[in-house]
Amino acid sequence: MPAKSNAGKRSTRVVSEEVFRQVYDSPHSLPGKEKWVTSHEDVRTIEHLLGMAPKTIGAPLWVSGDTRYCPTCDRETNWLDIVASALTQVHKKDLLIKVILGDKKYVNVEAPHSIADLHCYQCKSPINDLRSFKCHNWAYARQALLDVLERVKAEESHVNEQA
Ligand SMILES: [Zn+2]
Repeated sequence: MPAKSNAGKRSTRVVSEEVFRQVYDSPHSLPGKEKWVTSHEDVRTIEHLLGMAPKTIGAPLWVSGDTRYCPTCDRETNWLDIVASALTQVHKKDLLIKVILGDKKYVNVEAPHSIADLHCYQCKSPINDLRSFKCHNWAYARQALLDVLERVKAEESHVNEQA
């Protein structure tokens, strides 16, 4: 299969099935000094934030980077920080939508700034060196996520009307 060029995208980019398989099969190929999986407890919190039923997310949510813990409060950085940060920043919601709802598999590689404006879920300190996050197919959660995004949009337009 010829590789489709998505080279124009600087941050999160589409990777080939082959590369994705490698990362899927071997988390050790994720960039950064450390690789880890979002804790079950935090996955439950993500589901709550996104308005999903408990246990909706079954797949492991990998993250990797050079620093695993928040330098300020020692919390382990993971998908919860990514999701929570994305939900509070309008321009990052598109990324969340693309990554979670998209048909493509996204992996962040060699782009430290691709997860910009990320903040610790616990103490809100900036997290600067998370290198990548990967997801499995979230198709099973598609409707739940669409509902969340609709709700977020509705809340935003409501706020704008009052401003
Ligand atoms: Zn922190």
